[in-house]
Amino acid sequence: VTNWQGKRVTVAGLGVSGVPAAKVLHARGAHVTVVNDGADERARAQAADLEALGVTVRLGDGASLPEGTELIVTAPGWRPDKPLFTAAAEAGVPVWGDVELAWRLRGPDAAPWLAVTGTNGKTTTVQMLASILTAAGLRTAAVGNIGVSLLDAVLGDEPYDVLAVELSSYQLHWAPSVRAHSAAVLNLAPDHLDWHGSMEAYARDKGRIYEGNRVACVYNVADKATEDLVREADVEEGCRAVGFTLGTPAPSQLGVVDGVLVDRAFVEDRHTSAQELAEVSDVNPPAPHNIANALAAAALARAFGVPATAVRDGLRAFRPDAHRIAHVADVDGVAYVDDSKATNTHAAEASLAAYEPIVWIAGGLAKGATFDELVARSARRLRGVVLIGADRALIREALARHAPEVPVVDVDRTDTGAMLQAVREARRLAEPGDTVLLAPACASMDMFTNYNQRGDAFAEAVRELGA
Ligand code: ADP
Repeated sequence: VTNWQGKRVTVAGLGVSGVPAAKVLHARGAHVTVVNDGADERARAQAADLEALGVTVRLGDGASLPEGTELIVTAPGWRPDKPLFTAAAEAGVPVWGDVELAWRLRGPDAAPWLAVTGTNGKTTTVQMLASILTAAGLRTAAVGNIGVSLLDAVLGDEPYDVLAVELSSYQLHWAPSVRAHSAAVLNLAPDHLDWHGSMEAYARDKGRIYEGNRVACVYNVADKATEDLVREADVEEGCRAVGFTLGTPAPSQLGVVDGVLVDRAFVEDRHTSAQELAEVSDVNPPAPHNIANALAAAALARAFGVPATAVRDGLRAFRPDAHRIAHVADVDGVAYVDDSKATNTHAAEASLAAYEPIVWIAGGLAKGATFDELVARSARRLRGVVLIGADRALIREALARHAPEVPVVDVDRTDTGAMLQAVREARRLAEPGDTVLLAPACASMDMFTNYNQRGDAFAEAVRELGA
């Protein structure tokens, strides 16, 4: 679309994607109607702001398709089976997400995209990538699902050489024509299946990230499903499949040899078959799953032509976001680690794999997950377990099945004192040299506003122990 004048666009959902989308389209002369399910205070304030500009807003009515709609621009989280989209499909009205809109408005001209998706590790990898690109002297930003709007990045005044773009499976679902320079799928584990409808549909949406890639499709050698997605993708001629592995890399892969991250895909010197990039100890923290994230970030940067020294400098400069395997304190020889962001079993398994022996604090809202595999695979690392939250019985039962010898303490309360009690119980179970790890494998909303608050409560409780 180049001429938006008078075009009837329905924006589905206010919020971080809907408000900027409505403003941008309105400014280009489109006839914009915003529909929004809820009508709470925040929605009313956003609506008033848009109405003052001349945008029509329908609060409390996200289901019906406004008369004459030619295009829907939706918030990424809106489920595809909503009546609005059924009506759109019947009327032949296309649906774009916020990412698709950014791409159509100026995507390819603003800067090439290095894109990252996966069930876990997206934010970390995109931030590592941005750090590496910055170390290479490139003008860049970490944008997308990370909380920085792609629309702002693409349409703003700031010039970029390249963008590090985090894409969720929802965003990919609604972004049919986005074409990245190179892209990575970090891993695939069941998540958000109620939204996508099935594991196949979820994988298909993730796999969209490879469509039309120009230089490299980066996949996880240890996760065959990601490699399958590369094989199924329709890419530009000359685009390469590049694997990353925690083991010794084959040609066309990045991997680890004797504690060194090594690139055998993008080698600068013809006389060698491998380029050393960085030490494992340059990765912060050097837990296995995080080294995988670093390798994926390095692969995308190398696909963009970044020199090895910048990969090393960028990884050294990287600091993880809060509540992602954050070392809180050592008390009486026991390390306390906050991985409150481990909100699903796949993430928790990664952090449990990084320590031993562990006193594990887990529980919360299970979101339909089962815990048998996680518990069975992690059992031998566990000194003890402290369970919190609404669905703790599910984890207790899995522990009884797979790790009956591991002591389990149940914190039978959900008030503000629950975390302090959990940490006290954990301290009782722990011995010097152990790690007390908060990796709940569950969402936090039964007891906390979000995972940040849960992690803060943990850190606060640890400080009280030490005091
Ligand atoms: P996302 O943006 O995909 O949610 P984050 O980088 O915020 O991912 O990490 C979320 C959590 O997932 C971390 O706290 C950690 O427990 C776990 N995690 C990070 N990287 C990986 C990985 N490569 N594989 C499995 N789990 C991971």
